[in-house]
Amino acid sequence: MAAIRLGMIAGRSVLVLDEHAIDIENRSDGQFSADPMKIYQNWDTFTDWAGKQVLKGDESPVTDADLQCPVPQPSAVYAIGLNYTDHAEEAKLDIPKQPMVFTKFPSCIAGPTAEIPLTSNRVDWEAELVIVIGRGGRNIAESDAQEHIAGFTAGQDISDRRQQFSDRPPQFSLGKSSKNYGPIGPVVVTADAFDNPDAIAFTCELDGEPVQSGNTAKLIFSVSQIVSFLSKWTELNPGDLIFTGTPSGVGSVRDPRRYLTEGETITTTVPGIGTMTNKCVAQ
Ligand code: ZN
Repeated sequence: MAAIRLGMIAGRSVLVLDEHAIDIENRSDGQFSADPMKIYQNWDTFTDWAGKQVLKGDESPVTDADLQCPVPQPSAVYAIGLNYTDHAEEAKLDIPKQPMVFTKFPSCIAGPTAEIPLTSNRVDWEAELVIVIGRGGRNIAESDAQEHIAGFTAGQDISDRRQQFSDRPPQFSLGKSSKNYGPIGPVVVTADAFDNPDAIAFTCELDGEPVQSGNTAKLIFSVSQIVSFLSKWTELNPGDLIFTGTPSGVGSVRDPRRYLTEGETITTTVPGIGTMTNKCVAQ
């Protein structure tokens, strides 16, 4: 069975096959919804159906500009801090003994071409691989975690460092939850799209200049460990998102420091998933 790529175009869920879009509700005669959130609730049945679909010749070609947020209304958005050794070292912080979890409010989730309104002059980029939960649950064993994952997508954990570190102890949620501070996409891709789903590479560029290059093989806490750990404390639901952490190369710990500026374009690429292009604008 081929890997499955789920996206959204013009507010309707689509299966992306060979760069063409199959409208899921129409093709399935209503068995599966135009709302992608309903598809994650029925993920196992959906993937069985989706794996059998073929192009009939009347489908529209997909361009990056067409694709909207593939997980528009998650019930929760988790993120893991300091999950790459090189990032912990550049931030001069100790390696966490357990996953360092914070949340982004779901209203910050946006599409792969969303503009980023800058809330201060200290807004930073964080390219990350994002887990999309398929089958929910509590107390998921690490060995079962992959069965609970619908797929992966690219994400930016945009962070206003001024707000993030304005309190002591710091609380991260507000500074990481402003409008469009969680762009994801362009599609959600099943794990079988990757030669090794535990070694997914990704990059980030600012106006074409490379600033981050990561690989999930270097995660301190792996994808399976994160899913298992979170589910010990909270119930994971279909469509929930987990930002897995950012590698080195963010702006706030560079020498000299550097932050996002109006007009700058953030390009985030995960080979096998696609590219997000997010332009920074005035608030
Ligand atoms: Zn992050």
